[in-house]
Amino acid sequence: MRLSHLITLCNRIAPETLAEEWDHVGLQCGDPEAEVSKLLLCLDLTDAVLAEARALDAECILSHHPLLFRPVFSLREDRYPARLLAGLIRSGIAAYAMHTNLDSTRPGTSDALAEALGIVETEPLVPAARPAETAHYKLAVFVPAADADRVRKALGDAGAGALGNYSHCSFSARGTGSFRPLEGAHPAIGSIGTQEYVPEEKVEVIVPKGILPRVLDAMLAAHPYEEVAYDLLPLVPPPTGAGLGRFGRMETPCTVEELAERARACLPTSRVALAGDPGRRVERVAVCGGAGGDLVDAAAAAGADLLLTGDVKHHQAHHALERGLAVIDAGHYGTERPVLDLLARLLRENAGDALEVHLSRVCTDPFT
Ligand SMILES: [Zn+2]
Repeated sequence: MRLSHLITLCNRIAPETLAEEWDHVGLQCGDPEAEVSKLLLCLDLTDAVLAEARALDAECILSHHPLLFRPVFSLREDRYPARLLAGLIRSGIAAYAMHTNLDSTRPGTSDALAEALGIVETEPLVPAARPAETAHYKLAVFVPAADADRVRKALGDAGAGALGNYSHCSFSARGTGSFRPLEGAHPAIGSIGTQEYVPEEKVEVIVPKGILPRVLDAMLAAHPYEEVAYDLLPLVPPPTGAGLGRFGRMETPCTVEELAERARACLPTSRVALAGDPGRRVERVAVCGGAGGDLVDAAAAAGADLLLTGDVKHHQAHHALERGLAVIDAGHYGTERPVLDLLARLLRENAGDALEVHLSRVCTDPFT
């Protein structure tokens, strides 16, 4: 398949638009028109992973952590990350990053972690912010009842009120419009100086942002009034269900120590540290793959007994204890690695036989 098609599939799994504002996800090097038949998945794109991709003849490496994360001002090949970038380009290997968008999407990084630990009925700990850009407007126009059909048709013909396999969708309610034409007006109904009361309909339609000018022109052309009254409201998209971290309950409640032992047994982690009473019973758990020490307050607000994540700092652990939360730090690598198996499964389901998906055998956990 073309690399551009693989990117489309990746966006189906974890839309790039879900990434945090500071993040740099997506295609980092490579030609979207190039052919891809083998893909290598990893958490970190290192020299060893690049060598692995070359040995496999993979045309693309999909990493969780972006190779290019900070501005690059030179391509000196004796320095990171230019050394790797040059190696990728010389080998004709593309690099694609799926970072906080993979954390936020469902299922994503923390879902894979929660599943590995036996945590069920999960929901995002910090729901994803909705897109700031409005994609749709609600247009409500007030029309004399006798002219409502003509205006509804003009709105529909211009593309307003399209919902799935339906066109010309609208909602109308009857009411009374009133106005007093002043000197200089040319009223379609009524006369100068007299208060008029007219049976009107309020016609409401959805309008995609891109066709808004065309729809407004069509509405004004079809409307009999000199001064057309209408409301234009930006619409907020519904919540996506995505977000960072997950909160759920232990399928089988256990103690803090037992959960720490389970993390050590089922996550590829070099170490597990815990803070809090090891004998405390754990039912409601917050998890976050990667560095989730800043989710202490969100976990406490959700009512969690414990936060399990990686990279927990000294003061974050103290803060958690202060807020009544136990903490398990199972490492950055160990809490993120489960998502690669999930991602491989999703990519295989989406791509079928057109793509060989390989999981990197290189452990990029710097802690041994
Ligand atoms: Zn990470």
